Amino acid sequence: MEQEYYVCTGCALLCDDIEIEVTDNKLSKVNNACLKGVARLKECAKPAECKVDGSNVNIDDAIKEASSILKNAPNPLIFGMGNSTTGAQKKAIELAKRTNAYIDDTSSFCQGPVIEAILGDRIRTCTLDEVKDYADVIVYWGADPSNSHPRHLSKYTYFPRGKERQRGWEEDRTAICIDVRKSDTAIICGDKFYQIPPQADEELIDALVSALSGKVPKVSFGMGPKKILELANLLKKAKFGVVCVGLGLIYSLSDIEPLVKLMNKLNDVSNFHLIPMVGQFNMRGFDHNLHEETGYINRARFQESGVEHGPQCSIVELLRTKNVDAALVIGSDPMSSLPGSIAKELLDIPVITIDPCMTMTSKKAKVAIASVTSGAECGGTAIRMDGVEVEFKPMIPTDSLSDEEILSRIMEAL
Ligand code: SF4
Repeated sequence: MEQEYYVCTGCALLCDDIEIEVTDNKLSKVNNACLKGVARLKECAKPAECKVDGSNVNIDDAIKEASSILKNAPNPLIFGMGNSTTGAQKKAIELAKRTNAYIDDTSSFCQGPVIEAILGDRIRTCTLDEVKDYADVIVYWGADPSNSHPRHLSKYTYFPRGKERQRGWEEDRTAICIDVRKSDTAIICGDKFYQIPPQADEELIDALVSALSGKVPKVSFGMGPKKILELANLLKKAKFGVVCVGLGLIYSLSDIEPLVKLMNKLNDVSNFHLIPMVGQFNMRGFDHNLHEETGYINRARFQESGVEHGPQCSIVELLRTKNVDAALVIGSDPMSSLPGSIAKELLDIPVITIDPCMTMTSKKAKVAIASVTSGAECGGTAIRMDGVEVEFKPMIPTDSLSDEEILSRIMEAL
């Protein structure tokens, strides 16, 4: 019998070579996935239950209550969706339109500016399959994929053989790591690890742009011109280079412009691409879907008069300014990911969660709705970190509702 392969939704690498064994409608074996993937695909440590005000209810009552909250809130927010299928994300956007809601996702405080620059054709990108086939210089900047996306190096970027990289990693590829600490990825990069102090990324970018322009580079921290010129030289000689951008770099930049400047300079003298190290399996998908609908990737509000967009529509600003009076959180846990001073504002408004697992947010929510794990129990499509659409089928059968079905039922009850 021909081997069937499945897709892991443990992160935005969406590995498509997963083999499974199912016993009694449960995953008994998951082969080829990393530990992070296995943890996501197997049951949650604490599966969610449908609750209203802390008491167990059936899903119909939970959906009815959720619908009534959204109907009666003048300024609702819909947030999350990075762990939902494209179908569910489109449904959530439709719901936001119906309820004149704000809509935002985690990209508004992580990879959003990079994705926006890629979609606006301001930064050149490529696919992971092209990296595997052609890349000879790979830069991991502020990223530690060995831990965040455990199969990134082995499946696509450093170790695999590709069409024009037949001799493997030792002879055919140079891996460079720029980071504030010696991460596991930095250890793999050996003497091509360039350690910088926190918040020094922009200074190093300026120095690299100078070096690539033939000037003597200077920085205020302990990295001499020789070392910076050596790094610039490696980048300049690339036949096909890629910068894998992590949150360490994003968080230290005041805005995206220094990165755009570096990528432009690299493409004046060489051939370089950028791939954002997106975390949740379909966060990029949400950004693409909202962009298609509104021209914006996040931080938007639907109104009768049109779409409002800006920092004032981000979850952080809406909570800080108390401009939101109900929140629907889908597959996300802002209570644990946002700063405590902002997250505590969620305690003052009715929160609805849709999640397969119990989270800090669902524990405090007025309405918690249990859904299935996308990828394990329901199929769909998603956008991989490099912008490629990936289709996946469910691994195990279930009678429970997917995010998309729950959102449809909420809309029907409005
Ligand atoms: Fe799943 Fe990501 Fe691990 Fe691949 S790297 S198996 S997509 S968690």
